Formats: sequence, structure tokens, C-alpha cells
Amino acid sequence: MRLARRVRNLPPYLFAELDRKVAAKRSSGADVISLGVGDPDLPTPPHVVQALQEAATDPSTHRYPSYFGMPELRRAVAGWYERRFGVSLDPDTEVQPLIGSKEGLVHLTWAFVDPGDRALVPDPGYPVYAIGTALAGGEPVSMPLSAANGFRPDFDAIPAPDRAKLLWLNYPSNPTAAVADPAFFERAVGFARAHDLLLCHDAAYSEITFDGFVAPSVLQAAGARDVAVEFGSLSKTYNMTGWRIGYAVGNAEAIRALATVKTNLDSGVFDAVQRAAIAALTGPQDHAEQMRAVYQKRRDVVVAALADAGLDVEPPLGSIYVWAPVPSGRTSEGFAAELLDEAAVVVAPGTGYGPNGEGYVRISLTVADDRLEQAMDRIRSRYA
Ligand SMILES: *Cc1c(COP(=O)(O)O)cnc(C)c1O
Repeated sequence: MRLARRVRNLPPYLFAELDRKVAAKRSSGADVISLGVGDPDLPTPPHVVQALQEAATDPSTHRYPSYFGMPELRRAVAGWYERRFGVSLDPDTEVQPLIGSKEGLVHLTWAFVDPGDRALVPDPGYPVYAIGTALAGGEPVSMPLSAANGFRPDFDAIPAPDRAKLLWLNYPSNPTAAVADPAFFERAVGFARAHDLLLCHDAAYSEITFDGFVAPSVLQAAGARDVAVEFGSLSKTYNMTGWRIGYAVGNAEAIRALATVKTNLDSGVFDAVQRAAIAALTGPQDHAEQMRAVYQKRRDVVVAALADAGLDVEPPLGSIYVWAPVPSGRTSEGFAAELLDEAAVVVAPGTGYGPNGEGYVRISLTVADDRLEQAMDRIRSRYA
């Protein structure tokens, strides 16, 4: 068997070694608490589950769905954008349902990146932007992010490389938990326009924000629709990671190109899941306030424990993570291994998100309060 270069050349899975150590630790009988993955522990709102149950018993949902998503779902997404951001979208041309937003991030790349083309990706960042670029034969170009620039790229300092086609941004951010304000998005749109880039904003965490901060949409920036698409997901907003449904919105030409790739690769989202998504987007949103309160309280538990351990972090304003500096003299991977060995707590080493993640670990807030407090007590008693 001879695998394709695009697969052979994938970087080794950075968490493989950690996963192996976690399995070994567990089999030694340790009570391991994993703060490694960001997968909401809270349930999907009951009215959404009920909508799925009802739709699943209707045989008309059992057939192939439309490639372009149910018109009612596209309208529901547009209606949500209008209410949430004051942005009017044409449901027919500016909204594309996705089988989870990750699917769309990768397939949009296939629509734009030819072999040799480049995409600007945040470093540290969600690995899918860089890997998706490489799978399409393109070259990811890192935009280095650091605490000094608020984990937001400084567009004056980025050389726009030849053949760059896409610019990826993600706020509130995985893994850094940084947020963006409208002025930043205005600059990003200006940069994209000046360099003929499609600005791709991943807004998976737009509804998970704290201390009264409300995340903007890139599409609120003047002229954004000429140069930008935004990805949304029901995964984190409605605790639906297992359901696989999201959407892309924005520039109609980019949306059409994405749909063209998809019609050739997949056959859309189960109609019953689409009906549940309509119930989520158009129904009561009060679960969101409760969800934010749960994560905010957990954030405070983590930030306080880290402070006691001598690791000072500004409380992040969004996402489901705390991006924590490691104690001096440790590497990201070394500190993650040490926490596992000595506290039986799993965190994600920052270098899993790019070389500039060195010096940090990502702590996920998606475990039950008592387990999170237990994990933080262990860290406190080891380092305070
Ligand atoms: C969780 C997450 C998503 C959501 O992916 P889905 O495929 O919609 O579940 C997208 N982007 C980032 C950065 C994420 O962390």
C-alpha cells in the first residue's frame, strides 16, 4: 500500500504521546480528570431534543436531504443573524448549512486553495485551518500571536505572501480565549481587501462570553460582505457537538463555491437534525444565559487556582478555555506531562496549536463543577 503524500506528510498527531500516557495512568488506577478536550458537558436544550424526536418519526425526513439545506433552516440562520447582530443575509445566496462547521472550514479551503497557494493561519490556532490547507496542497503561513498583541494578528506586521488566498481568524478563540472588538474586524476587512484575500472568520464561540462582553460578527464591519465569510456552529452554542450541524454565511460567491464542492462530496444534513436546528435557532435562548453563567463560574475557579499556584492569567472574556502560562523552566509538553504524573489532571499542551503555543497549556471548562474544583485543588496543593 502506498499512501498519498498529502496523508503521509501530515504532522504527527501532537496529542498521541499524551493520550498514551493518559491511558497508562488510568490503567494504573489513578482517578484522572481530563481538562484536555473542549466538548460541552451540559445537555442540549430539551425543546431541541424534542424537535429531533418528532422529526425522526416523520418519514419525509428519511430521504436524502437537499444539498443546500432546508430553506426554513437557511431562513432561521438569517433570522438569527438579524436578531443577534443586526446583519441581514439573503437566505438563498448567503447562507449554507454544514455538517458541523469543521466540515465547512475544510471544504471552503478546497474551493479556494490550489496546490502552491497559501492561507494565513493563526499560530496558536485551531489546527484545522492549517491541516485543511495542507490537505488541499496549499501552504499554511503562520500569523504569530502572543500575549503582547492580545493574541490578535498585527496586520501592519504581516507580510502578505504571494499566492495567499485565505485569511483565517477565530474570536472568541480556541485555544487562546482571546476576543476581538469591532475595530479589529474593521482592520481585518481592510487587510483582506488590500491583499485580495477571502477573510474566513470562525465564530464557533460567539455566544460564550463573560462579564457582559458581547462578541461581534465580522459581517458587522463595513464592506465585510465583499471579502468575508463567517462560520457558525450549533455545537457550542446549543451543546450539540454530537449532532453535526453548523453553517457558513457571508459573501455569496464564496458561499456558492463552498456549495459546489459540497454537492460533489456530501449529501447534506439529516432533515430531522435540520428541523432540530431550526427549533434551536428560532426558539427560546434562555439556556444561553445559564450556560454563560456556568462557564464564567468555572473560569473563575480556574483563574483563582492558577493565581494561588503563581500562574497569573487575566480572566478571559470568551470561549470554553483558559489559556494558562506554564511555570518558569517548563515547556508546554513538560508541564502537561507533569500535571498528569503528579496531579492526574490532563491539559492540552499549547504546542498542539502551533509553535507559538509554547509556554502555555489549554485548560478546558467542560467538566462538571465538582470535578473541575477537584482538579484545581490538586494543582493548588502541588504548586501553591
Ligand atoms: C469546536 C470548534 C468548532 C465547531 O466545530 P463543529 O464542526 O461545528 O462541531 C469550530 N471551530 C473551533 C475553533 C472550535 O473549537
